This record gives sequence, C-alpha cells and structure tokens, in this order.
Amino acid sequence: MQITDFHMHPWLDQSQNLVFYPNTVPDSPLGMKKHLLDNGVTHACGSVISHDKSVSMRRLNDMALELRDILGADFYTPGFHIHPGHVEESLEEIERMHEQGVKLIGEVVPYFHGWNRFSAWDCIDELNVILDAAQKHGMVFSYHTITDWPLEPVIAAHPDMVFVAAHPGDRGVIPMHVERMKKFPNVYLDLSGTGIFRFGVIRHLVDQVGADRILFGTDYPICNPEMYVHAVLGERLGDEATRMIFHDNAARLLGL
Ligand SMILES: [Zn+2]
Repeated sequence: MQITDFHMHPWLDQSQNLVFYPNTVPDSPLGMKKHLLDNGVTHACGSVISHDKSVSMRRLNDMALELRDILGADFYTPGFHIHPGHVEESLEEIERMHEQGVKLIGEVVPYFHGWNRFSAWDCIDELNVILDAAQKHGMVFSYHTITDWPLEPVIAAHPDMVFVAAHPGDRGVIPMHVERMKKFPNVYLDLSGTGIFRFGVIRHLVDQVGADRILFGTDYPICNPEMYVHAVLGERLGDEATRMIFHDNAARLLGL
C-alpha cells in the first residue's frame, strides 16, 4: 500500500530533529527514511525546521533540497519556507524552488522562525503578494492551523491555489475546518499532530467534506507515524477513501 506522509519534518542533523524525547529516532537522514518505511510510510513530504532560530530561510530550504538528494526524490518531496516579513527573499525562494521542481510551501509554522506575528498580525498584504507568485506556479500552501489567524481573505484572493491546513485539532477546532472547507473548495486538511486520537474524527471529516479533501500526515518525528497509519485503518472507511487519504490526494495535489 502506498502511504504518503504529507506532513513531516526531516533533519540533516540533530539541530533540526524535532523529536520530543532524545535518542528515540535515528540520527541520520537515511536512518529516518528506514524508520518511516518500517512504519509503513512509503513517501514523505515537508519542510525543515530548526531549533536554531538564526538559520536563514534560504538555508532551511537548501537543507530540504539536500535531503531530497540524500533520500531520493521518489521518497521525499521537499517543502520550503516563505515569510511575510521578508517579501523579496520569499519571492526569490519561490522562483528558485520552482526551478528545482518544488511546489510545496510548508508546513510553515508561525511559532518558529519569527512568524509569531501571524496570529494577530497585519501582514496579510505581504502574504498576498507572496502567494500571488506561488499561485502562478501552481504551488500548494501548507500551514499550521491557528484559529484566530485571519486567513480567509487570503484564501478568497487565491482561488486557484491549494491551501492545506495542518492538524485537525480537538472538538472545538473541527467545526472551523469543516465550515472553511465547505466555503472554499481549495482548502484541504492534513491529519498530522493533534486530533485523530479522538475516535470517529476521520470518519466525521470524510462525511462532512469528502475523502478527497483529507490528506494523511503525521508531524513525524514529533508524532508516531505507525499510530497514525493505524488510526486511518481503524476507521474502516473502505478501500477507495482509505487510498485517497493515504496517497491519492497528495499525489494529485503535488504531482507525485
Ligand atoms: Zn508540523
């Protein structure tokens, strides 16, 4: 079975390893790949995030490209960073990554790398400029869900771009995702992080918005990928819906 983890964070060295408990995942990128394969994940996507806040956006994106060389493009799809505080640099990164054949932005994580202003910020104009360029290249925007981030005008301004919210969240957040996905056909949700430990949530989402809008994701190495695989299987959604969530939707959006 093909299982594409749409949302994880690979590492070149320990300064980008986000695991909470030391020495519980392999040190090296190739060890990480084997660990994921052993857990059932056959393809992985996502951005590099560093504990070291001084690392530049460009360097993080370079690391994602290096990891693609190490892990193989058939296993890893890089996600890259943009930043509304650095519009020119973001536009350069979009062109550079487009030339590299990369179309996944993110996951971008507001609580890392100075995105804190996002939750109550005034950078919507800057983000619109950056995403205008990304939309022209058919890119996909994967972002950490922050409930009070005023993102809907940005989504409305980019109807031809795919937005993927990360993390279903708990009971209080699910209705926001569902409402937004019903309002905007270009909004998707990945299953990573908090949420799917609540029984029935995946089936509820499929019933509300359809299996074609849900992407399998883990947030590895923060979360346990095998547990997430079994969470999807455990809902017994049927072969077609399960295949869509595990792989087909990500393959369609990212051209895998
Ligand atoms: Zn993440």
